[in-house]
Amino acid sequence: MRTLTAGCLRRWAAALILLALPGAPAALGADEPGAPRPRVVCTVGMITDLARRIAGEHAHVAGLMGEGVDPHLYKPTRTDIAALMGADVVFYNGLLLEGKMTDALVRVAGSGRRVVAVTEALDESFLLEPEGFDGHADPHVWMDPHAWAAAAQVIQRTLAQALPAHGGAIAEAGSRVAADIAALDAWAERTLATIPEDRRVLVTAHDAFNYFGRRYGLEVVGIQGLSTESEAGVRDIERIVAMLVERRVPAVFIESTVSDRNVKALIAGARARGHEVALGGSLYSDAMGAAGTSAGTYLGMIAHNVSTITRALGGRVDEPPPTPSAGAAATGAARP
Ligand SMILES: [Zn+2]
Repeated sequence: MRTLTAGCLRRWAAALILLALPGAPAALGADEPGAPRPRVVCTVGMITDLARRIAGEHAHVAGLMGEGVDPHLYKPTRTDIAALMGADVVFYNGLLLEGKMTDALVRVAGSGRRVVAVTEALDESFLLEPEGFDGHADPHVWMDPHAWAAAAQVIQRTLAQALPAHGGAIAEAGSRVAADIAALDAWAERTLATIPEDRRVLVTAHDAFNYFGRRYGLEVVGIQGLSTESEAGVRDIERIVAMLVERRVPAVFIESTVSDRNVKALIAGARARGHEVALGGSLYSDAMGAAGTSAGTYLGMIAHNVSTITRALGGRVDEPPPTPSAGAAATGAARP
């Protein structure tokens, strides 16, 4: 990731936009009675979940990446390519989250399919560009529910264009999703605000929580960089251990998609210097939990993270707002 320059990225983005512009997008044939439902293929589960809820029964929505899959490293399989080429609409995160799928996405866009980055509506002023990543925006925007509500709008707009006969149902489902995300965000804000001021430090395996930290007022430290492709050096570990000891940070967190090796090295390092750091639990950063469980939905994933972080750092957790039935929103288990 680090070897790509901003200019190179911009050229790539421009090429993809050109390829993705099919002129005035036509409605899909599936609006006619008896026609097969249009196929929607999504990359990460956080997108699949929203697309399933918004499309309802009017489209067949499949996700490529399931529980525990790291999107930074994910290379599309032959089955994935076939699914993408057979899709009517493809949703991906963009901002180079799916770095190893770029060629495949460009190819699919070139074949005239709608290939839509759900982050396309985010204003540049919203995006974080951490130091040392010349021109790369941080792709982990779903960690701020405001951004994911904007992503839901992009999905809603695209599906409404593709399925005009179901525009009413799609708009209604979109409103429900927006209301659920707003309720989750309000609860998360209240809950995380109970963490004592001097403990508001979130140390995780990689840099996935910058937007989360900005939204809820937590200082964020990722051992690895924005992409899990970069390796944490010994010096990074030593620097973070010194910070943990000096500030008496009570807990650090592992992530479901990243090896726990570095986090365990932090705990051992702090212990060697006389400070006990607890393992605060496992967070869902770049993938949701198991299909059919609460954490297998976007709302449940964020609620899990908020509860786990708040408890481990000494705050108080009340019941999160109810989430829609987990069974309706699975991760990549179902393939087209
Ligand atoms: Zn990540």
